[in-house]
Formats: sequence, structure tokens, C-alpha cells
Amino acid sequence: MIERTKSHYEVIVIGAGVAGIYQIKLLADLGVDATVLDAAADLGGTWYWNRYPGARFDSESYTYGFSFSKELLDEWHWKERFSGQPENLRYLNYVADKFDLRKYMQFNCKVESAHFDEAKDLWRLKVADGRELTSRFVIMAIGLLSIPTPPRLKGMEKFKGRSFHTFHWPQEKVDLAGKKVAVIGTGATGIQVIAEIADKVADLTVFQRRPNWSAPLNNGPISDAEMADIRARYDEIFATCSRTPGGFEHEPDRRGFYEVSREERVKLWDRLYNTPGFAIWLRNFREIFTDEKANAEFSEYVAERIRQRVKDPVIAEKLIPRDHGFGVQRVPMETRYFEVYNRDNAHLVDISETPIVEVTETGLRTTERDYDFDIIVYATGFDAITGAFDHIDIRGVGGTKLRDKWSDGPSTFLGVFVHGFPNFLMPSGPQSGSASTNYPRGIEIGVGWCTKFLEYMWAHGYTRAEPTIEAEKRWTDHVIKMYSTMLMRKAKSWFTGYNSNVDGHEHGKTRYFVYNGGTPKYVSKIKEIAEHGYQGIVFGSASLLGQGRDTEDLGEKAAD
Ligand code: NAP
Repeated sequence: MIERTKSHYEVIVIGAGVAGIYQIKLLADLGVDATVLDAAADLGGTWYWNRYPGARFDSESYTYGFSFSKELLDEWHWKERFSGQPENLRYLNYVADKFDLRKYMQFNCKVESAHFDEAKDLWRLKVADGRELTSRFVIMAIGLLSIPTPPRLKGMEKFKGRSFHTFHWPQEKVDLAGKKVAVIGTGATGIQVIAEIADKVADLTVFQRRPNWSAPLNNGPISDAEMADIRARYDEIFATCSRTPGGFEHEPDRRGFYEVSREERVKLWDRLYNTPGFAIWLRNFREIFTDEKANAEFSEYVAERIRQRVKDPVIAEKLIPRDHGFGVQRVPMETRYFEVYNRDNAHLVDISETPIVEVTETGLRTTERDYDFDIIVYATGFDAITGAFDHIDIRGVGGTKLRDKWSDGPSTFLGVFVHGFPNFLMPSGPQSGSASTNYPRGIEIGVGWCTKFLEYMWAHGYTRAEPTIEAEKRWTDHVIKMYSTMLMRKAKSWFTGYNSNVDGHEHGKTRYFVYNGGTPKYVSKIKEIAEHGYQGIVFGSASLLGQGRDTEDLGEKAAD
């Protein structure tokens, strides 16, 4: 266990999830004086918190695991193609224990503030337990979806039954048998939890504001023989992930949508509907993402599938999105989700027609009627991407608050740096490659790159680095440009900063949160910047502190 009396580190990593675990592994290998702080009682990040029934990967398990250790790859046996939360958390614990990383981690350590000390080129952090820590560098590994946002409903505190956001699903077993349960929200989380609990509760009522396009996950067990085959192919699997836009094994169909006949298109879609994982989204024609007409034709194909699966035609129509096409929001993957609505104990309430007015002592009141429940589950999403940053009082040069700088959306250089916030690194930050990819694949890229950057600084004796405002602007403009051809730019979703439960995010004003250029393009850009001496970054050295800063701007070439 780490010594809690120590107050200074070379590097403080905030967050002990997938990114924080890998980051501390690399720093430990280099012998750097570093620690990881996490608000939770243990490691795991998203897989520590999200314990709701049905929580599982939408990524193929074996593409989600870390790739950095052959020994680890050889040892771990993924039991399911899309592994569930308990197993995923076990995996992350296994990794931390195998590489003896726990000794660098401090739990129950909520970071409340981080202020940059310009005179000393270091960060001063305040932890909720009262400690003040300093570090030369802060690495933000705080997750993209780690601030849950319950709805803002009148009377929520009055409810006498149990209620929780899915992120805070209790650690102890929740007894669902015989219970009347409400689920609010039909995103990826709601769709997982609804499908998983429908046959375990007495009565289930789903409160849906907007339906989501969703398609079968097609999960299944991984046998010993299959795992042996996967192990033998790991190099090939990761090589494929590194050349696909989303960091998955799924490669888009490169035939033009309009070059093939309607029959050919349907043949592909029939196959993809029964193919595991995001194939239906990512192995599809590329026009699905960019061309309204192509997207509409495919959306109608999926709508027809929903009609075939839901017996009541009125309910089926309510489950078909009208305000956006398939795949322009992050596609939730489902396992017998649509069949839930064929059950006698399951009910769908369309709250776009009859909105929830308030939470009562015994349940929910809509404009139409009262409902009684034992349990209310809020599957209402997250203050995504920048939310976790906004929850820490982060101040850079001149006391500028990051929250203020990003009030209309993030601006970054490479998704890694922010002008005015020196020595502040985000290996999986807003506008970086990992935000819109198979997360660990992006994380390994980001963490590896940041670590090399730090090694460069240490080798040159630099104690301070930040991007120029021009470099940041160029990158942010490039990120915005990448949105311009994508249909997703119009969607009301967390990918574009929409969240009705967060002040300032409820109107859906587009925030350019993610890098849409794809993994290969992102990697080539950050590699090029590194190969050219980290163009766009201004370095400084503390050796001349007090005598005027020694700074060196190593060039100003375009980032795009
Ligand atoms: P989400 O996609 O933002 O969905 C939130 C849902 O709650 C939406 O249906 C939304 O309706 C509804 N909602 C929000 N506020 C509401 C309110 N005040 N009243 C009524 N309904 C409300 O959130 P999520 O489902 O938690 O998923 C977020 C992301 O987490 C996913 O996109 C995915 O990236 C990740 N995730 C991944 C996995 C996985 O990998 N297997 C699983 C779960 C989640 P509107 O659409 O009308 O806003």
C-alpha cells in the first residue's frame, strides 16, 4: 500500500480504470515516482461502478483486453465473446495484481481541485480527505462516461422504495423477484438492463422518451478451442484493430452503396444482423454514416426487423426511432430486447406523449396517471466526455478555470493537451482518438504516446510543456471539420454534447467531443507531431526559474 504521508510525486494519474492501470504500468516500468488517485474504493473505473444486471462489453472481449503483454494474453481466458461486468472487473484486478500495480494506487481519494503553480511548474492538488499533493505532471485518466446524470424530476427525494442510477447500482445483490420495477431511459445501458431483468421481476415498466436503434449482440461462450485459436491470432487481431476506423475487427464494406443492387445490400444486412457485435454498424456500407438516403434505406430495413420481433404493432412503431437514422447515435447492442415487449409483465410508456410530472412517495406520476413501484432505475446517461473534468476545479495559467474555457465545448491539441494548462496530459481526452473507438485500443495508443512524450521531456530536462493557442485552434478546427460530413453531427446524443439533465447541455448545441477521423488517421497525426520534435508544444525549463524562463518553441507546423 502506498505511503499516504508522501506529498510530492513526479506524476499523479487521476483515475484507476483501464487508462489509469495501463498508465501506471508504463510509469512503473520506467521507475518514475508516480501514484494513481481514484475516488472509488477500488480499481476498475467504469467496470467498478456499473454493476447493473446486463452490463457487458459491446466490444469483442479479446479486442477489449490489453495487448501489451504476451504473457497476459496467453494467461487470460475470455469466457464469453462479449464479457459481463463481474468478469471484466476480475480481469482488471488480475492485470493490476499480475504487474503489482496496486501499490501505486490510492483509493477513496477524490480529487477536488488541481491548480497549476506557475512559479514552480507543478500542480497542487486537493484531495477530499484533506491532503494537499503536488506533482510535476497530472495525467487525466478519468473516463469518458463517469459522471452519471439522474433526471431532474420533482419529488425524487420523496420516493419510499429504492431508486438508483445504473452507475450506482448497489454492490450487494438487489432482490428483484416479485418487485414492480420502473426503468427510465433506453440508451445502451437501459436496453441492457431492461432485457436482463424483464424475466426476473414481477412487473417492468419502461419509460421511453426517444427510442434508440438497436440490433442483436449475438453473444456466445468462447470454448477452450476457440480461445486457443484467438491466442494464436492475437497479433493479427490487434493489427486489424489498428487499421480499422473504430479500433475493432470490423472493417467497413468498401463497395459503394449505390454500386451494388438492392438485393446485394439486403443480403449483406441479413448476414450482418446475425453477426456478433458492432458488425451491423461498422461492417456496413460507409454511406450509412454520411448519406441521408442510404441511411434511410438501411434504417427502414432495421425498422422492419423490429416490426417482425414485436407482436403489438402499436408498440413496435413506438420502438422505431423517427428523429434519427441508424448508427448516427452510438448503437446499443441488445439480447432479446425487443421480445421484452411481448411479455405480459412488461409495459412501455411513451413519455414523449405523456411526460413524467413528478416522483411520488410510491412511484411516478405522468400527465396521464400514477404508477406504483418498488424500485426505480434511472438509466439516464452521463455528463459525457467533459463532465468529469468539470467536476474538478482545474485551474491553469493565470487561474483560468478549465470549466470556463470549455463552457461551450472542449478545445484541445491532439485531444491530449490544453493551452494554458501546462504539464496536464489526457491520454484518452476529449477530441482524442480513443473517445470514439474501441476504448482500450485507443487508450493503449494515447497512454503509450503520452509516456514517450514524458520521456522526451525528462531526457531534455524540460519541466514545463503546453501547446500554443494556434496549435490548439488548428486541432480543434480539424476535429470540427471531421464532423462536417458525418450524419451524427445532427444527432441529439452524448457524442455531440446533448444531455437534458445538465445545465447548458440541454439544448443540444453541438460540442465537438470526439475525433471522427478514425484510429489510423489519428495515429499518423500524433506520430508525425512526435517525429518532428513535438511541433506545436512550447517547452520550458525550471533551471532558469526566477531568472526568466527558458522556453523553446519547437516549431509551428500545421496539425491538420
Ligand atoms: P444514453 O445513451 O445517454 O441514454 C440515456 C437514456 O436516458 C436515453 O434514452 C434518454 O432519452 C433517457 N433520458 C435521459 N434523461 C432523461 C429524462 N430526464 N427523462 C427521461 N428519459 C431520459 O446513456 P447510456 O444508456 O447510459 O449510454 C451512454 C453510453 O455508455 C453509451 O452510448 C455507450 O457508449 C456506453 N455504454 C456502453 C456499454 C457497453 O459497451 N456495453 C453499455 C452501456 C453503456 P433521450 O434519448 O430522449 O435523451
